[in-house]
Amino acid sequence: MIKKSQATEEGSDSELNVDAIIIGAGFAGLLALYKLRQAGLTVLALEASDSIGGVWNWNRYPGARCDVESMQYSYSFSEELQQEWEWSERYATQPEILRYIEHVADRFDLNRHVRLNTRVVSATYKEHENAWKIQTHEGREIRARFCIMATGCLSAARIPEFPGKDRFKGDILHTGHWPKSGYDFTGKNVAVIGTGSSGIQAIPMIARTARSLTVLQRTATYSVPARNRMLDEAEKRAWKDNYAQLRETARYAPSGTLYEFGERTAEETSLQEQAAEFEKRWTKGGPGFLRAFSDISSSPIANKAAGDFIRAKIADIVQDPEKRRLLTPAITLPVGSKRICVDTGYFETFNRSNVDLIDIRDDPIKGIEENGLSTQKRKLDLDCIVFATGFDVIVGSLMKIDIKGIAGRTLKGKWKNGPGTYLGLMVAGFPNLFLVTGPGSPSVLTNMMVSIEQHIEWITACLQTMRQQGKNYIEPEEAAESKWMDDANSLAETMPFLRANSWYMAGPESGSSPRRFMLYSGGVGTYREICDRVAQQNYPGFKICDRHPVLDVAADLS
Ligand code: FAD
Ligand code: NAP
Repeated sequence: MIKKSQATEEGSDSELNVDAIIIGAGFAGLLALYKLRQAGLTVLALEASDSIGGVWNWNRYPGARCDVESMQYSYSFSEELQQEWEWSERYATQPEILRYIEHVADRFDLNRHVRLNTRVVSATYKEHENAWKIQTHEGREIRARFCIMATGCLSAARIPEFPGKDRFKGDILHTGHWPKSGYDFTGKNVAVIGTGSSGIQAIPMIARTARSLTVLQRTATYSVPARNRMLDEAEKRAWKDNYAQLRETARYAPSGTLYEFGERTAEETSLQEQAAEFEKRWTKGGPGFLRAFSDISSSPIANKAAGDFIRAKIADIVQDPEKRRLLTPAITLPVGSKRICVDTGYFETFNRSNVDLIDIRDDPIKGIEENGLSTQKRKLDLDCIVFATGFDVIVGSLMKIDIKGIAGRTLKGKWKNGPGTYLGLMVAGFPNLFLVTGPGSPSVLTNMMVSIEQHIEWITACLQTMRQQGKNYIEPEEAAESKWMDDANSLAETMPFLRANSWYMAGPESGSSPRRFMLYSGGVGTYREICDRVAQQNYPGFKICDRHPVLDVAADLS
């Protein structure tokens, strides 16, 4: 039985033993805190940073904003909250999203259960106590029956090792670890390495004030215009008057986002009509471009049509023929095999006289020196290098924690050939440990707010059911986990993902076996139905009992 212990208060000793420890205080951690506390559990959230907000606290680079429209990239759990909050732009900026998160934390009195500046370094399951022992970087220990890993999929910023990096006398920045005080690029010679979503948002902004900007690109990226703008009152009203129903529809939409979904296939549509539809969506802006036809992710012909349209747009926009060639994504790279980027003036930026582009496949980076960076063919004098090189994705922050389950088995060891979970929520051998938007769930393929809310609701309901049944122990079965991951990988075979070398894939560290798709690509609606069915059927695929089953047997024998 989960015992109710004293409510945790900042600084009091009672926090050393809580029902549920939550690691991370971004969107997921804060919602877990709220929901589990409401369910009567004692909770504490530990956050490595000195502020709450997760991604929206760390990624303060110029141009950072959401790519799911603000009216949809927000919590739906409170009708009052969604009615009272006023988003100003179609795609909110990082400062506005962070203000929203801070408002939520104040409104629901969450801060008193968050311990900032506290990095969790290890989590060890103690069989005899049926509890997790959490150790922080300062050596503090906390015991919790349940451990909720809200550590984020894109929270472990990655700077690749280029020789000489430590010798550089200028400034080194990473988009995902941006200084709180901001950074002034005025008059500086700057290089940006990386052209994913972060690079594509930052590059046009940096180019405005930098003396010179050199972009070092490894893979040309598909990007569509955001067409960001202020939201007008009528538009906001239309959302707010129908929020309950719209949110419910989004929960079952393929990626958790409402778009105008094209019902026709591209294959059955004439080339002229295809072009008109793509043009309409390009003009409207946003990732809804990929919803123009129902077969863009399933038919190579339809996918190529979407890619060809973007390639033609790049050709129209970029004036310099060499830059145009380098910025054009390869025909062999399917659109949507990596998350499509949404930009504001990205391709246009390369028409500026202060912006240059280097293709590092053709001209690799040799190293970084005191005053700049050398490629095989060029030498750049630089004041600043911005790494927009992404993250150790999905499992990166988890892998930084020394997680030990039953019999001291490490999660790192278990996942050395790629991560495995049952339903994306739990791992065999690691009882009472829940992952939020982890591998094997729809996660970053979706509107993350929808996925986060679904996971937290499922976990909360599961713990409530266990409490009603007097159970304290939950662990998935190995067989259920293997089948889940095999099914997820088979599903991905029908999608464009496996045809690109993207970070959606994971593989053995040795690279000896084929890389596998890490996520569930069957859509958030189908996924939700599966998770709900498992709960309704009293959790098939999970062992649920009073405590660690081996200890139960031992107790029966004695
Ligand atoms: P995070 O926000 O990453 O929070 C995790 C927290 O855990 C962090 O604060 C971290 O410091 C903390 N933490 C990690 N390890 C430890 C540890 N060992 N000890 C203590 N604390 C720890 N998704 C969308 O759906 N739409 C978007 O438009 C969108 N835009 C994005 C823009 C950027 C720049 C990035 C990087 C991601 C974006 N995402 C977007 C994805 C984003 O990850 C999610 O939308 C969401 O913010 C994730 O929330 P989270 O709480 O799960 O994780
Ligand atoms: P990313 O998508 O992983 O992009 C990283 C970029 O760095 C890629 O261009 C990559 O090239 C390049 N790179 C990585 N290692 C390199 C190396 N060693 N040398 C040279 N180049 C290297 O990371 P991100 O742009 O930070 O975006 C990550 C995710 O965060 C997105 O997919 C999205 O989910 C989210 N995000 C969303 C928004 C938004 O619009 N709301 C903004 C930012 C981030 P390759 O392509 O060749 O690997």
